[in-house]
Amino acid sequence: MTDILSMGELLAEIMAERVGQTFTEPGVFLGPYPSGAPAIFADQAAKTGASVAFIGCAGEDGFGDLIVNRLRDDGVDVSGITRTDELPTGTAFVTYQEDGSREFIFNIGNSAAALIDADSVDPALAGGCRYFHVMGSSLGSSGSIAAVKRALELVKQGDGKVSFDPNIRPEVLTSPVISEAIHHVLKECDILLPSEADLQYFCGDAPEREAVATLFDSHRLEMIVVKNAAEGCVYYDRTRSLHVPSFQVAEVDPTGAGDCFGGTLISCLAQGIDIERALTLANAAGAMAVSERGPMEGNTTLSELDRFIDSAERHV
Ligand code: ATP
Ligand code: MG
Repeated sequence: MTDILSMGELLAEIMAERVGQTFTEPGVFLGPYPSGAPAIFADQAAKTGASVAFIGCAGEDGFGDLIVNRLRDDGVDVSGITRTDELPTGTAFVTYQEDGSREFIFNIGNSAAALIDADSVDPALAGGCRYFHVMGSSLGSSGSIAAVKRALELVKQGDGKVSFDPNIRPEVLTSPVISEAIHHVLKECDILLPSEADLQYFCGDAPEREAVATLFDSHRLEMIVVKNAAEGCVYYDRTRSLHVPSFQVAEVDPTGAGDCFGGTLISCLAQGIDIERALTLANAAGAMAVSERGPMEGNTTLSELDRFIDSAERHV
């Protein structure tokens, strides 16, 4: 039985070399790096010891080899990934601004990543997994939405749990189809992993505690973990909450921290690791992820995380 199923966009990422660089004039870009939020999640979950399978589509090109080889080498079951010569592998370009913000140019909609649909979901993989993780960024096309909905049905039939990182992006705010899909996954999910901005999307300007209480009242959720970047995370279940401070690191590249945090947390839960240790390991994984350039280059094993935790200073 597979511990964790992840599904969605497989990307190559190309990043600006220096902060302040823009897309509107020539500059040095680095890469390609393997990327895609569900891929970063899956890679990290596998590296930390869970058995992980992936469903997705990559082009029959070098970028496709880059991402599929990385996942395979790190232990992910890639049998649910198809390759196509119809469209190229998806890409993400990113620049970093002085205020910490990022600008992305994605090509997902016109890439191999958009070719998945309900038929891409292997019933054996989805029906047999213990956790199915959904990224909001994977709900960008009608085919990928159909694939997620089909997998949700199969996972529920097989008694698997659903974890969800809404990862709300600007296009969600203007697309009723994507917004409906986000709310559909929220209704089905057991473990929600929002950022503060994701909570605002669901609950407006309500303070965090109130927002979380509203979500528990109206959904089947058993656990919500709010990711707060350098402030760490706050865990909530229906009876208690727990703030776990993060670790002090120099942030080199924030992309992928949330995915890496989620991959570690769900991997730990699948392996029966207690929640307090799981949250500490997830914070450590997020901190190590932001310390390396490249969305998956700071991914880590449990023993690397333990060594980091022993030597790092915590934020207070
Ligand atoms: P993403 O930008 O990948 O969508 P996110 O907003 O979902 O990320 P963040 O809160 O930015 O998630 O990061 C996830 C976790 O990584 C945090 O809860 C924290 O544990 C760790 N982390 C992120 N940034 C830092 C930082 N600058 N210093 C230390 N830890 C960090
Ligand atoms: Mg963030």
